[in-house]
Amino acid sequence: MSAELRELYQEVILDHSKRPRNFRDNPAATGRAEGYNPLCGDRATVYVELEGDLVKDVSFKGAGCSISTASASMMTEALKGKTRAEAESLFDRFHRLITSDPSRAAENSAPELGKLAAFSGVCEFPVRVKCASLPWHTLRSALEGGDARVSTEETEASRGDAEAKAGTGRP
Ligand code: ZN
Repeated sequence: MSAELRELYQEVILDHSKRPRNFRDNPAATGRAEGYNPLCGDRATVYVELEGDLVKDVSFKGAGCSISTASASMMTEALKGKTRAEAESLFDRFHRLITSDPSRAAENSAPELGKLAAFSGVCEFPVRVKCASLPWHTLRSALEGGDARVSTEETEASRGDAEAKAGTGRP
């Protein structure tokens, strides 16, 4: 990754962490879930309002580090107007991007990720992967409807990831 691109990505993440978009609850939500990342202390409640199969609205509240806040903010922007299937597939692509070997990050980038590509640097910091993926795991529960609680320690384990054990420092 070039120095210019890295800088641009950092600016995008900083902007969303300072001024998160769609940071509000939604009384009309058809599903909501509370996510918690015990490794960092990030908390995010995600509200999803489905209309048929379409994500009519998605918003979040909570308190977390800059990576988790920016990830939640950019996720809400990316998902509005998408179908459930598109939301799931975007999560898969995003997860691949942030968990790939840093030397292969470019291969895992995809046009449909759009601005979410800003998180490609996260794969160099395995402990931050949980921060970036927390809002998405929480979203997946919210899409199922009702009221759920999610912990990255359970969801990541069930996906068969071992990145938490790598434990590097914070960027
Ligand atoms: Zn965090």
